[in-house]
Amino acid sequence: DATIAGEFGRIMAWADKYRTLKVRTNADTPADAKKARELGAEGIGLCRTEHMFFEEDRIAAFREMICSDTVEEREAALNKILPYQQGDFEALYEALEGNPVTIRFLDPPLHEFVPTEEADIEKLAAAQGKSVEDIKTIIASLHEFNPMMGHRGCRLAVTYPEIAKMQTKAVIRAAINVQKAHADWTVEPEIMIPLVCDVKELKFVKKVVVETADAEIAAAGIDLKYEVGTMIEIPRAALTADEIAKEADFFCFGTNDLTQMTYGFSRDDAGKFLNAYYDAKIFENDPFAKLDQTGVGKLMETAIKLGKPVNNKLHVGICGEHGGDPSSVEFCHKIGLDYVSCSPFRVPIARLAAAQAAIANK
Ligand code: PEP
Ligand code: MG
Repeated sequence: DATIAGEFGRIMAWADKYRTLKVRTNADTPADAKKARELGAEGIGLCRTEHMFFEEDRIAAFREMICSDTVEEREAALNKILPYQQGDFEALYEALEGNPVTIRFLDPPLHEFVPTEEADIEKLAAAQGKSVEDIKTIIASLHEFNPMMGHRGCRLAVTYPEIAKMQTKAVIRAAINVQKAHADWTVEPEIMIPLVCDVKELKFVKKVVVETADAEIAAAGIDLKYEVGTMIEIPRAALTADEIAKEADFFCFGTNDLTQMTYGFSRDDAGKFLNAYYDAKIFENDPFAKLDQTGVGKLMETAIKLGKPVNNKLHVGICGEHGGDPSSVEFCHKIGLDYVSCSPFRVPIARLAAAQAAIANK
């Protein structure tokens, strides 16, 4: 309806005049990215790359990688995923037309990636020239009781640096191609390392990223800038943000995990027993939906206060679910974030909330 579209556009234009917070989106498909752009997103704040590994060929290659014995074998397996991954990123850069795109490196709970079906295990054994028993032993060695607190995020890039290398190649090659095709856009990749709790993890993964990216850029003979930043989603990362800021170009608060780890509530199960908390008047709101400003928020403020003086170029955003919740957006404005990132359909709400926050806190 042209009238509604017109009125929507007018209200949004007012909001945009007042807000100082940028609004990005969480998207990992070109369709979501385009929808979010139509709704006013000014960039991608979080592309979750684990969603890109589930197609048959890719997951098969990933499983080969996990069951390989040498770096060379692991690299060969991951090289099968590289062209797909490069294509994924090219499509996102195209959809964003030179606006920022933050690509978050692989952060799966590993148990979702290992085979459980007998037929898949047999296929993997055949591909690897190993016995079914050997494959089962490898899978069993990866079993964890708490996968969400386990071998995921940057921890995976520490144990398998080849993954970070492959993803860096895919990001940089995609960016180079899109930059070459559109001289009037600025394509500047933002690579985000998840689940960091110690600056040494970031240093370790960043070294892989920088060595790989610089080699790709030199080989292409192009002047491409890129950033390496980190998610702040473990309390320890917030509390040691001065150290981390020395190595990071940006921070992005992953308030889903930060809420989980601050409260010690499982983000996947909390809905069940939290209802009793509302009945008992212990909680008014679900902390996974509305940012807890006293606890989780204090960690965010701490991270900003520690990080900014160390790195005056540090830019800071949020990409947990709270980035699309109005009261949480207001809090993000007050503590000095540069952007919020939320799912595509919440982008207009975030734009309005950011404007209200700017007006209310003049
Ligand atoms: C988060 O933890 O808030 C986040 C954005 O990352 P994910 O939800 O993918 O863990
Ligand atoms: Mg997270």
